[in-house]
Amino acid sequence: MSNRVDPNLIKDLQSFGLKDAAKCYNCGNCTAVCPLSTPDNPFPRKLVRYIQLGQKDKILTSPEPWLCYYCGDCSTNCPRGADPGETMMVTRRYLTSLYDWTGFARKFYTSEKFEIMAITIVALLVGIGLLLFNTGNPNWEYAHINSVWPSDKIEIADLVMAAILSFLLLSNVFRCFRFVMGDLAFKIPFKVYAGQLKELLIHTLTQKRFGLCTDKMQWFVHLMIMTGYASVFLLVVVFVNGLGFDNLKFQRDLPEYSIWHPIRLVGYYATFAIMYGTTYAIIGRLRKTKPVYKNSHPTDWMFLILLQLTTMTGIFIHFTRLLNWPATTYFLYIIHMMVAVPMLVLEVPFAKWAHLAYRPVVLFLLKVKEAWQQEQAVTEPQAVAEPVTAVERN
Ligand code: SF4
Ligand code: SF4
Repeated sequence: MSNRVDPNLIKDLQSFGLKDAAKCYNCGNCTAVCPLSTPDNPFPRKLVRYIQLGQKDKILTSPEPWLCYYCGDCSTNCPRGADPGETMMVTRRYLTSLYDWTGFARKFYTSEKFEIMAITIVALLVGIGLLLFNTGNPNWEYAHINSVWPSDKIEIADLVMAAILSFLLLSNVFRCFRFVMGDLAFKIPFKVYAGQLKELLIHTLTQKRFGLCTDKMQWFVHLMIMTGYASVFLLVVVFVNGLGFDNLKFQRDLPEYSIWHPIRLVGYYATFAIMYGTTYAIIGRLRKTKPVYKNSHPTDWMFLILLQLTTMTGIFIHFTRLLNWPATTYFLYIIHMMVAVPMLVLEVPFAKWAHLAYRPVVLFLLKVKEAWQQEQAVTEPQAVAEPVTAVERN
């Protein structure tokens, strides 16, 4: 990887939300107080320095932006008000755009107009699609969504959407892997990768490193939103038609499942977790209560608004079905899908939700490098004169 200086880097990053990094005088306080910074992977000062020096290629191959969970400790302790925590957030947005080969993420992050237009177009397409493709024979006596949009047909649409999203996300994850691993990507044997897969699972499910930060509440809120979203994704994409089992169908007409049925419990958990997490974050952003909520990028708002609207319309549908209001239920179903689908197709591969994939993947790759380095130290001591996990320090 070359080490060219990009004189336009700061300007470019400003379009991703960079504000105060130029104020940094490189004292190192932020790295000293960061609970997640390590001697092998020190941050955030190093990233701020790369930005000041226009070192785009170094940023591209850096794993550090994904090691930060944005707790805000560094920003609180920065004597220059350079907001290093926000700078790390900006580099994550920037990296997301660099990993994305379609160029869509860059447009999404750098143009509010484009973001609103993209969401509106997808929402309208979904609305028109639902109006055009239905059974044409709705049950007006009972609120039976399946009489208008049968769950087996919705399942097909869901699976097609999931396949496209997976392809886009995984191809971007592959580029992240190539950048972070560099020449080692295919040099390290597959068995070393396989041996560290549990790390990928642990970090995906628990985000346990976030728990090392001083503000445990941020970890909790993050975890609620992530697990709530993952639960709802499972229900609406995987279990919409119950994988062929009638008693596991998520899109089910009355009679309702008993209150203790697993599908219902997962639905209640997802609703509570998302509403709690997003409401906490929205209030924090409005009041700017913590450094982490001081700066809000348009995509932060869009993410929270889409997530809340999706959940709220889902709650309304639940009640109109129980009250047996067919017309209102069908109308709300269209609105619900017009909000939920843009959130999935735009946020998952190109924006905030993609971070959920990149962070655990990078943590996993660092563990792979570490395991391989240890293996090399035993089998070929001379071959590891330079530790592979050591990253350049400033
Ligand atoms: S960001 Fe602030 S704390 Fe960190 S090195 Fe710069 S001036 Fe010091
Ligand atoms: S926001 Fe928290 S985790 Fe991120 S660099 Fe600052 S102190 Fe470290």
